[in-house]
Amino acid sequence: MKCRVCGNDVTDVSKCPVCGFPVIHGLEREDEENLTRMAEEYLMGQVEFYLTAHTYEEADNSIRESGQPKIKIGDGRDLSKGKILWNEQEFARIEGRRELSLEITIRAFGKDRSVRKIRVKAPSLRDFWHIGICLEGTGKVKFAVGNDRIYELSEAVSLL
Ligand SMILES: [Zn+2]
Repeated sequence: MKCRVCGNDVTDVSKCPVCGFPVIHGLEREDEENLTRMAEEYLMGQVEFYLTAHTYEEADNSIRESGQPKIKIGDGRDLSKGKILWNEQEFARIEGRRELSLEITIRAFGKDRSVRKIRVKAPSLRDFWHIGICLEGTGKVKFAVGNDRIYELSEAVSLL
């Protein structure tokens, strides 16, 4: 039997050792539906998103990369379906780029679950850009780049 939240094997246990969701057997159809909804809410309450940013510094008349901090860009619990959750952080526009490559880390149940390289079209925006997260449906999100008026969306990415 598989965990309803994370898919881990939960045969012979009463609680999933990976995500902590309870294992419940032999339910009526109606309870099944409620449990599926609970599992979705549980997952969204545990997921966090981070963006690997690149910082630069000037040294000896040249520009070099000085670090790759992971910036938190949102929590699953704040997402609502079909709506973009924008992060406050401003990023400098990259001149001449047609496509951006974002490295997103998806964290859940207290540890990094996956690191994804996400491609998204550069928004036609003269201003700073922000990153946003949009809940697509069960277990899927898209990432937005731009601002609340002008933006581009990535392909859908699954959470686990
Ligand atoms: Zn689990």
